[in-house]
Amino acid sequence: GGSGATQSDLQKARMRLSLQEHLLDFYQNNVNIPTEEQAVARRAALDICAELRVFLHAKLPDMPLREMYLSGSLYDELQVVTADHAQLMVPLILEKNLWSSIPGEDTIMNVPGFWLIRRENLEYFPRNSSYWDRCMVGGYLSPKSVLEVFDKLVAGSINWPAIGSVLDYIIRPVVPSETLTLEVQYDTERRLYVDFLPLLVMEDGTSLIAKPHRLVAERHENLWRQSFRVAETARLRALDQEDGGCRCACLKLAKAMCKLNPALNRLNASQLTNCILLLCEKEGDWTQDALADRFLQLLRALVGHLEAGRLPCALSPKVNLFCELTEQEVDELGYTLYCALSDPAGLLRT
Ligand code: GDP
Repeated sequence: GGSGATQSDLQKARMRLSLQEHLLDFYQNNVNIPTEEQAVARRAALDICAELRVFLHAKLPDMPLREMYLSGSLYDELQVVTADHAQLMVPLILEKNLWSSIPGEDTIMNVPGFWLIRRENLEYFPRNSSYWDRCMVGGYLSPKSVLEVFDKLVAGSINWPAIGSVLDYIIRPVVPSETLTLEVQYDTERRLYVDFLPLLVMEDGTSLIAKPHRLVAERHENLWRQSFRVAETARLRALDQEDGGCRCACLKLAKAMCKLNPALNRLNASQLTNCILLLCEKEGDWTQDALADRFLQLLRALVGHLEAGRLPCALSPKVNLFCELTEQEVDELGYTLYCALSDPAGLLRT
């Protein structure tokens, strides 16, 4: 009867309260990275970036690049657990009249969120009119081939032991690596992984990165991946700033949960960010007191999207952010998160 409902309400309220405490505790002890640790990692990344700039200017002065820069969660206060990775963005310059972009949905692959870059005007501007023609495969600019150019340079012709000893780091290219990654040991205990990320910025501001489609079929090899990272991160932060909300905290908790649980490793920052952004369209209360409620809601939303096999990008709904997961991975993620709904704190143990 009436009193039973009250009791269960009370019990629910108590569970929520304890989840809230658990989340705050976990945030303090496991998610948050000490400022000092972040600063040292950023310093190491910056040192490497400076060396590479000098090297590339000296060795390949005619390679058409804009200035390289560092980016990623380490620079947005969104890195969690340990300060251990950053991206080195390498923007390529393409001649406007020689290259054009084709959205993935207009190609035979039909994959929104990926693009082809086609070489144009070959009859008037023959091969080698553009520096990047050396990376042309079947008439398209191949991200794989671009990565290989940098791989040869970075892994093959830079004397990392010498640079490392000057900087007092141990630096080595990670092999094999799907992208191009440097491992920087800057302390006996601490390692930083720096990913090389060649990128194209199109006239309308669209960013494309040389990060291959995960389910590599040969015909996918020429696809460039559209990056929404800058815009989605900015939107999340802006929403928090408007109302002093807990969206970024919620994201960092979810990221740590996925980093610390092998069964959830396949979920990435972009998927979690977009799931929260979609939730923001329906749910207005992101006050700090609502953290546990929103966190639970995020888990439920993820389960829902996994059941549907589809997570639309909040900034471009035709893009399915689950399109690179296999059916089995979708099932496993869904199952793990579904089980976690009754005991969410279970995923927040270390
Ligand atoms: P975290 O690595 O989980 O902390 O998440 P980040 O927010 O730092 O995202 C890094 C990942 O996003 C890497 O796998 C990148 O390859 C990918 N990524 C996609 N677009 C971008 C971009 O514009 N900048 C950076 N830094 N990474 C991007």
